[in-house]
Amino acid sequence: MSSDRPARVKRSKIEIKPHFLPVEERGLNFNEVNLGYINEQEVIDEAERCLSCKKPRCEMACPTGFSVPKMLLAIKEGDMQKAADVVNDYFCTPSSQNRICPAFCQDACVVGRRGDAINILNVKRYLSDNYVKPASFYERQPLTHKRIAVIGSGPGGLTAAHELARLGHDVTIFERSTLGGMLAVGIPEYRLKNSLLHAEIKDLEKLDIKFELGESFGKDYTHKDLFEQGYSAVVIAIGAHKPKFMNIPGSELKGSIHAIEYLRHVAQGKDVDIGKRAIVIGGGDVAIDAVRVSRRMGVESEIVYRRSLEEMPATKEEIHATIEEKIPINFLTNPVEIIGDGEKVTHVKLVKMELGEPDESGRRRPSPIEGSEYIMEVNTVIHAISQEPDVDDVRNDFELTRWNTFTTKDEDSFETSVAGVFAVGDTVSGPKTAVEAISHAKKAVIEIDNYLNSQVPVESDIATNM
Ligand code: SF4
Repeated sequence: MSSDRPARVKRSKIEIKPHFLPVEERGLNFNEVNLGYINEQEVIDEAERCLSCKKPRCEMACPTGFSVPKMLLAIKEGDMQKAADVVNDYFCTPSSQNRICPAFCQDACVVGRRGDAINILNVKRYLSDNYVKPASFYERQPLTHKRIAVIGSGPGGLTAAHELARLGHDVTIFERSTLGGMLAVGIPEYRLKNSLLHAEIKDLEKLDIKFELGESFGKDYTHKDLFEQGYSAVVIAIGAHKPKFMNIPGSELKGSIHAIEYLRHVAQGKDVDIGKRAIVIGGGDVAIDAVRVSRRMGVESEIVYRRSLEEMPATKEEIHATIEEKIPINFLTNPVEIIGDGEKVTHVKLVKMELGEPDESGRRRPSPIEGSEYIMEVNTVIHAISQEPDVDDVRNDFELTRWNTFTTKDEDSFETSVAGVFAVGDTVSGPKTAVEAISHAKKAVIEIDNYLNSQVPVESDIATNM
């Protein structure tokens, strides 16, 4: 019996696996671990598995709304350059972003319900690594001669700078420390090579974006100084770099350090001696980065996390790599005291935990099991529970929340309590992912552009445009 229906295409439920550096070759080095796809056919085969959904959950799950189906469809149609353009036009540092994104899109992909989700991130990565950026990446609308100061060069700051420059504004990025912000000092080399990140940042100079390095916002200059220097708007994207320590006895001891400081010192090539044994407290990507970096530095280190594997907030791939590298993760365990010899850390007291009813975050609340305390000998305790924006030097200039983030005019606005000063990324949301900071920045740019267009032109602007 014949049928007019088109034959159903049978698609594989199993993903084409990207390549990884074998575990035995990782050892005491910082060589890149995820090598991605290494030939085009792998990428085409993986894209072929996509169902081209009418209501693409992948796109809806991405905080930036990146058009995954458009990219995959172009591959399926045999136009790799077009697919690459979709990625490379959208992100200001695409190859870097495609190495560190938690890929919310993949978690949401419908194919993942009955098999492996489409490996969207590694498809994107192959395209950004192997195809040049389209001309549109560098194209700028007619110059407005409006100067914008972007403070901070992490993903939020870079995205705001790129988008504002494309709109024709004259952008300068101010960075007090290392270009790339948290991407440069918080992400280890085995996940994102600094040379790659810096090459992508350098490329932004083609849009006449300028960089001012070394001075600290609030300490060396203020938003008022910037306005006096002729800037029309200021974008604060200083991230959340200030460490938050666990409030337990002994946290003040020498050898009780924060993961962010540890990762920064290692990234900057500083001499960091944390002894022979360390524990890292936390279950997020920062904790995973700290433990994997310390292992590569020859330290016997392990993670303690108060909940179970199911609730661990770190990216699945990072957790998998940690387990693969045989790094112990002590689930349902929490430190209660850091013990020292009067000066530095010598031990940590831990307690076993059990999970109860879900708390306000929706995750089951852990509580200590009475009498389960035990002591572990360590030289260093690395806190990786959280960070917050470092706002000590601007506290008197802006309204802040109790979490030390900047308040904005309303939920949908990015304008701070000071007119013409906008805030994006972790500075407003508290510590989140790079892709969330990018999403913030893309939305903020629309508001900033509207603000600039609403400004009455000053005489010098009129003269310049005549
Ligand atoms: Fe393709 Fe999955 Fe997105 Fe559907 S949800 S369009 S299958 S990537």
